[in-house]
Amino acid sequence: MRSATPAAPRVNPWVDAIHAYVPGKSAMPGGKPIAKLSSNENPFGPPPAAVEAMARAGANAHRYPDGSSAKLREALAAKYALEFDRLICGAGSDELLQFVPTCFAGPGDEVLMPAHAFAVYPIAARRVGAVPVEAPDRDYVADVDALLAAVTPRTRIVMLADPNNPTGTVLAKGEVARLHAALRPDILLVLDGAYAEYLDGDADYADGLALAHTAPNVLATRTFSKIHGLAAARVGWAYGPAHVITAMDKVRGPFNLTTPASEGAVAALADDGYAERARVHNTRWREWLATDTAGLANHGVRAIPSAANFIMFEFPEAGPVTAEAAFHALMAAGYITRWLVAQNMPRCLRISIGTEEETRGVAAALRAFVERAATA
Ligand SMILES: *Cc1c(COP(=O)(O)O)cnc(C)c1O
Repeated sequence: MRSATPAAPRVNPWVDAIHAYVPGKSAMPGGKPIAKLSSNENPFGPPPAAVEAMARAGANAHRYPDGSSAKLREALAAKYALEFDRLICGAGSDELLQFVPTCFAGPGDEVLMPAHAFAVYPIAARRVGAVPVEAPDRDYVADVDALLAAVTPRTRIVMLADPNNPTGTVLAKGEVARLHAALRPDILLVLDGAYAEYLDGDADYADGLALAHTAPNVLATRTFSKIHGLAAARVGWAYGPAHVITAMDKVRGPFNLTTPASEGAVAALADDGYAERARVHNTRWREWLATDTAGLANHGVRAIPSAANFIMFEFPEAGPVTAEAAFHALMAAGYITRWLVAQNMPRCLRISIGTEEETRGVAAALRAFVERAATA
């Protein structure tokens, strides 16, 4: 391969500055059976009704989809009591998160986020030449005062995942309200609720939709990739002020959702029982995993309190018991987890909540690794 010459097409420097997203691993060397606990997917597979709907939609694959995703937006509006015209659907919420800086920031503008934020946000900012700015957090929880202190005249957007990925931490309802109240009204606050459904019924949690319904500068995003079990279908949605949604509609591809994807999502949305079972299972086994591994604190391994469908573990910086060594040991035992080195968190390992068998197994493998390494 020849290196770039002055005559070659030159990559935009702000695109060149992107650190490419590193997805969770999904296969083991040698094709051994594995439990994939690296991407926060639903361990029970897609809802059967969604599989049927996607298969049925395949029969119409020669027709372009409805570019406005009207059927899905109608279903969302009915389920969450939202205004149809203020909903937009995307090929995953990732796509919608990319649209936000495209519409509301430009070269040199700042996109503010807490430290340890979702890895997609800096990419979304950089692709339009904007600058991702991180405010310090407090023990992995977003710090409202630090965020407000980091606001400058160039701040255009604040991005907050609540609960956050990869930390799992949640910001209390009052804190989200305080952040919003103190932000300049020309700054768009994005509340990414990819894990919101896991907190259904928690009175101290603001799922973002209520604020997006009333405030002129709040956008709430959601996904079908997590509790609804449709990560491969790529369906996300957002709700916000009309002028924000209108702008985002201008930059999306005219047929950004496939028909099978949106039909699958409509069917998944109708299956309340499936999502509720997933939520109950997740809460139970997340708490079980935290309790079962609590003793590892003696070796400096700490489970960060999580409200999502995973737990992030923090390891000592050096010594025999590191996140990197744990990652490899778990892999050898048949469990793919996420070592967060690409997120600049080499001390941390994120483990998704799997089935009961997977959760018990990964906990035992983690305990065995720590005991083995610590006594070696
Ligand atoms: C998983 C996740 C998403 C959703 O991504 P999709 O593109 O909808 O699959 C968005 N935000 C956060 C914080 C996530 O963890």
